[in-house]
Amino acid sequence: MSALEAGARRSTIMDTNSFRPEHAAALDAHTRELTARRQRVLGESYRLFYREPVHLVRGSGAYLWDADGRQYLDMYNNVPSIGHAHPAVVAAVHEQMSRLNIHTRYLHERILDYSDQLLATMPSELDRVMYLCTGSEANDLAIRVAREATGGRAVIVTREAYHGNTELVSAHSPSLGSGQAMDPDIILVDPPDGYRQRVDDLGSWFARAVREGIERSERRGVRVAALLMDSMFSSDGVFPATPGDLAAAVAEVRAHGGVVIADEVQPGFGRTGESFWGFGRHGLVPELVTLGKPMGNGIPISAVVAQQTVLAAFSDRVPYFNTFGGNPVSIAAAQATLRVIQEEQLMQRARIVGDQVRAALVDLSARHPLIGDVRGAGQFTGLELVVDRDTREPASAAALDVIEGLRRRRVLTSVAGPEGNVLKLRPPLAFGSEDISWLIEALDESLTDAAIGG
Ligand code: PMP
Repeated sequence: MSALEAGARRSTIMDTNSFRPEHAAALDAHTRELTARRQRVLGESYRLFYREPVHLVRGSGAYLWDADGRQYLDMYNNVPSIGHAHPAVVAAVHEQMSRLNIHTRYLHERILDYSDQLLATMPSELDRVMYLCTGSEANDLAIRVAREATGGRAVIVTREAYHGNTELVSAHSPSLGSGQAMDPDIILVDPPDGYRQRVDDLGSWFARAVREGIERSERRGVRVAALLMDSMFSSDGVFPATPGDLAAAVAEVRAHGGVVIADEVQPGFGRTGESFWGFGRHGLVPELVTLGKPMGNGIPISAVVAQQTVLAAFSDRVPYFNTFGGNPVSIAAAQATLRVIQEEQLMQRARIVGDQVRAALVDLSARHPLIGDVRGAGQFTGLELVVDRDTREPASAAALDVIEGLRRRRVLTSVAGPEGNVLKLRPPLAFGSEDISWLIEALDESLTDAAIGG
């Protein structure tokens, strides 16, 4: 009997919106065959989105097209930040790939130019950057650096966090479910959930949770190394909190000898609209920052940005090399992406359009009691569905029905949070005001269907 059959806790991020073999009977013959073939060659760990999987062949801006030529609105993917198949990235990658692609043990100006451009978007204390290929690798390295710098071991993460898939980082990603063993020294804290924690001062409440976690760990003889935190708490259910709410918790970590790792894999690169970085929105200067996903608009590239004083203990002892990390082609993609975000003022666009999206969702909530909360910052919105607005009981089944309903109306998104009842609306920044009516009409119909059990 598998762990899941034995009643273990499923992975919230991997198993909630997920195709299962029992859905196969309802599929057309071609989709059924592709799905079976995929399972045969890729194996059981892979999960497909949706009861009826989507077969995509093309993208542009915030739109995707399936193999039958049907157009979809992408409300989910933050990797193609400046838009799917963006011509500036295509051209930059093509030009650099036609000339040279090589690892970082030779001199190359492009990596230096980009590093200067990237560091210019951050507070001056953050003055070193190391390149990798994935967000997981970046968090893995950041934890190693934090442990080296502080002499502590324990890493604080939130209850449904996801930080990646290496051995070290999986062990700090509780959203993978109970099949994944957690690090014995992990410190788990509840996220600053301003909807369910009915407290006057969320910042003090979160700081206390962090302090109590550290003190529990210290009583076991384990000192804290880091608070590893996605400032939008994406997989916890999207909690923007009020800017400033994280400062007291950060002060607790530092008072106990730890450092802060800001995981910017989701909120980074202008998405939250108010600041180029999620930590900036909260007025923080972390010791370490990890970047990924949108950095290369689809080309794998990630980074750890660090304060030199924190990095020193690690770099004095351990040399670093990553064959593909920071190669000229990845850097060309990242450079083009950053340039477009800045030149086209996509951060400002995220703020304006994101506010419009949330205003339209609040209007919609007047007609749909299923909507319990609308929250977010910039182009990062959580739409929490509840059975009852007073008890705030999570409407998990309805949320799944709604995302399936949206999928039928060709709007792609997914769910987050421990109960899978928060729709995560996180489109490419190419999403514009003109796309809002498609989203709202599809949601209106899907919520109506879900409310009547359709
Ligand atoms: N951190 C966060 C907050 C993430 O959302 C993810 C990916 N979903 C990662 C880290 C890991 O990134 P990658 O999949 O590129 O390894």
